[in-house]
Amino acid sequence: MNFDVIIIGAGPGGIFSAYELSALMPKLKIAVFEAGHALDKRSCPIDGEKIKSCIGCKSCSIMSGFGGAGAFSDGKYNITNDFGGTLYEYIGKDEALSLMRYVDDINMEHGGAGTRLYSTAGTKIKKTCVQHDLHLLDASVRHLGTDINYVVLENLYNSLRDRVSFFFDTPVDTVKRAASGYEIVTGDKSYFCEKCIISVGRSGSKWMERTCRELNIPTKSNRVDIGVRVELPAEVFSHLTDELYESKIVYCTKEYGDKVRTFCMNPRGVVVNENTNGIITVNGHSYEDPARQTANTNFALLVAKHFSEPFKDSNGYGESIARLSNMLGGGVIVQRFGDLIRGRRSNQNRIDEAFITPTLKATPGDLSLVLPKRILDGIIEMIYALDKIAPGTANDDTLLYGVEVKFYNMEVEVNSDLESCLEGLYIIGDGSGITHSLSHASASGVHVARRIAAEK
Ligand SMILES: Cc1cc2nc3c(=O)[nH]c(=O)nc-3n(C[C@H](O)[C@H](O)[C@H](O)COP(=O)(O)OP(=O)(O)OC[C@H]3O[C@@H](n4cnc5c(N)ncnc54)[C@H](O)[C@@H]3O)c2cc1C
Repeated sequence: MNFDVIIIGAGPGGIFSAYELSALMPKLKIAVFEAGHALDKRSCPIDGEKIKSCIGCKSCSIMSGFGGAGAFSDGKYNITNDFGGTLYEYIGKDEALSLMRYVDDINMEHGGAGTRLYSTAGTKIKKTCVQHDLHLLDASVRHLGTDINYVVLENLYNSLRDRVSFFFDTPVDTVKRAASGYEIVTGDKSYFCEKCIISVGRSGSKWMERTCRELNIPTKSNRVDIGVRVELPAEVFSHLTDELYESKIVYCTKEYGDKVRTFCMNPRGVVVNENTNGIITVNGHSYEDPARQTANTNFALLVAKHFSEPFKDSNGYGESIARLSNMLGGGVIVQRFGDLIRGRRSNQNRIDEAFITPTLKATPGDLSLVLPKRILDGIIEMIYALDKIAPGTANDDTLLYGVEVKFYNMEVEVNSDLESCLEGLYIIGDGSGITHSLSHASASGVHVARRIAAEK
């Protein structure tokens, strides 16, 4: 079967390229191939009662399916060049911001209207942070919440399904060069297209590596971020989260000069398992609907690790640390901060007696047996630094879940059109290693669609 454009992956990158292409060129024959399920079929079996932890489904509904890894995410669209990816290095800072704002407009038209846009502009919190050697990054944050994010995706799908052919539960095995364009092989079937957009996200990282090898597309290794998810009573951070919702705060450790940062802050949210290629790590999200909110706020504290020659496999390093926690805890480990600094493991009794109820069922344990000393020391130092702007952060009962790992795909060599060295083959979103967020991945999809439309 022939198409003008085939998009691989229906995450934010794939969805927004399909949206923009079909809007600009309604006659174009566009297909989207997605390894996971359609949106209404996506459901994680963990119910907290019968199934308490990850059972390793063939297709993980948290990471795969229409909406991609973003579908059950907190739906925080950070409109900024300060974090979330380096798209601006390819397309320029103004263009990147303008595309992120355009994505925000589309989301508002599709069910997001009424959600709040937070901003760091003019906040006094910045001054308080810097007085304690903490650095607040600039951003506007649209918080859709997991519930509204789902509604927006539903509406986007309804507006796309008559204009675009969707193939769900259809993982692409191979991309081959064809006489004119590309052959997309899935199972025993082949589809042909003139142009192909690859947007396979983090869950497609191993596939992306293989595809780049097979097609001789140059790549370079990226970093890996390792750390923990912190959970504490919502009151401790409420003066920050009420005003900014999410604050990205960076701290440089006195001991090693490493940068530690807060990441993915979820006021009154829940901590969840994340399954990446069979390895269980931790993540978090929250709901816009007050009825579904909890008494706790969670956020990650991450330390970035870059490796120099000869070691290239930064993701492999992160995976090994996550495997260690899976080996000791059968999944994610939880430890009270007080236990960690006293050098003892947390047990179920200590967790049950704490003044905070964990939102994720994890195995009480000892994170110092899992995390490298340098990373753990950095996290402890950052917790004490945060305690100065949000007293209570360093309380004994603060919960630390480990490990949280942010895997980055290796960076694929692309030009300012996000086109690889092969003409007509575009690589976008988190799968390219260039973006690490909803807004940057979506913006990369719009950018590529406009480049393709301009050429036609
Ligand atoms: C729990 C969680 C919470 C998050 N919260 C936020 C947040 O609040 N804000 C934020 O900015 N970011 C958040 N993120 C990150 C965000 O979801 C990603 O940055 C974003 O989804 C990347 O979009 P993408 O389209 O590049 O890739 P993805 O969303 O990963 O989509 C890629 C799609 O490609 C499919 N695929 C992979 N391989 C193949 C193949 N061979 N054939 C066919 N299909 C394939 C996958 O199934 C997947 O559906 C969160 C992530 C998680 C897991």
